[in-house]
Amino acid sequence: MINLEILTEDKNLAAVCQLYWEVDNEYEFVHKISDLAKTANVDKKRLPSLVKESCNAIVPTWKCEDCGNPYVFSNRSDLTNNRRYLLLPASDKVSHVCDNCQRKRKEKEVEERKQRANEKKQAREVLEKEKRQKIQEVYNLTKRNPIDIGALSLTDAVYLLSILRAGAFENLSKIMPAAMFEQKLSPASEFTTEVINHLYAKNLIYIHPDTEPEAFVNDDVSRFYVWRVYYAPPISKISVDNQSGIFSELTSKLTESWTDEQCQEALQLWKRVALEESKEYLLFVLNEHHFEFSPGEKTNQYLEFALQYFSTAQIFNTIWRAGRDAAAYYQREGISKKQAANSAVAAIQRLSERAIAEKWEIKPFGRNFKCPQTVIGEVLYNNALRLGEDGFNLIPNIEIIKNKKIT
Ligand SMILES: [Zn+2]
Repeated sequence: MINLEILTEDKNLAAVCQLYWEVDNEYEFVHKISDLAKTANVDKKRLPSLVKESCNAIVPTWKCEDCGNPYVFSNRSDLTNNRRYLLLPASDKVSHVCDNCQRKRKEKEVEERKQRANEKKQAREVLEKEKRQKIQEVYNLTKRNPIDIGALSLTDAVYLLSILRAGAFENLSKIMPAAMFEQKLSPASEFTTEVINHLYAKNLIYIHPDTEPEAFVNDDVSRFYVWRVYYAPPISKISVDNQSGIFSELTSKLTESWTDEQCQEALQLWKRVALEESKEYLLFVLNEHHFEFSPGEKTNQYLEFALQYFSTAQIFNTIWRAGRDAAAYYQREGISKKQAANSAVAAIQRLSERAIAEKWEIKPFGRNFKCPQTVIGEVLYNNALRLGEDGFNLIPNIEIIKNKKIT
């Protein structure tokens, strides 16, 4: 049942409104708008808005859930669209929320969402503050025991000086996360991780309490991301009050003369750095040819074999040729990129063996500017071995080391 609330004083207009909204039993409109417009002497297009201004067509039983105001039809088609509800038995409740209340509900929802987000943010901030406090407690640097730099192994000293060179801040109180190093610590990220783990396990670096909470895996900050935490260097017994003393102590340890044993240790490091530089260049060359490859044990074996007879500079030449041949093979035979990469690695062994058997002189390559020397290479070749670029240009050999370092 539709009721009219007349809003106009004009009796004629009120009558037009009654006729406009008059419906039969089936809620079909009784009068055509064009007829009504003629009767009222109003433009046909103007009539609906005129009626709308002059009355409200309501269903008294359809009350807004929030404010209780009855439903007001916005126009005739609104009524037509709601016919099926109007035809329901009177006992069936039709519920609705008026536009005004809907807007209020939405505003309330937005407000509540904002408040929830705010509460969440505050809770996060509290948690973060707690985590920062925990980091400060757990990784308190006063627990560092001063160490004897002179008693470090050669590997320890090379690794420690390298990480200080790569990432220490000016006053040497803090080392930035490895992910932020400008110059790579080593030619391979696995090697860099190994260096850091080595130093950390031997208490030669500590996690710095200034580390951001995100660098820890869990809330009790017992697990951390090796590449994302800040580190602190150890304290030297000799220079307890002077953090930068450690730098000169390490440098002199590496530059002074060595024992036979230290020379042997240095040879292993030389071979390792040469191997990692060769692997880095191999990956670079294969990548240039768009081959897919991840080096494994076999690659290490082939390169270690080659390093017994050739310098890194010569192996670069072999790697370059192996890559070129594999690319030609790939073009010619239509093999997969993975097969092509594997053929390149196998070719390193084959080319090396032929060069040895037929006594070829392999021309040394220079470094590629896209694979610049890493910090560990500089420390080992320049500071420790005092070979400079000869570290790259010579075959790793104990006699060379002894000649330089045993005086
Ligand atoms: Zn309402």
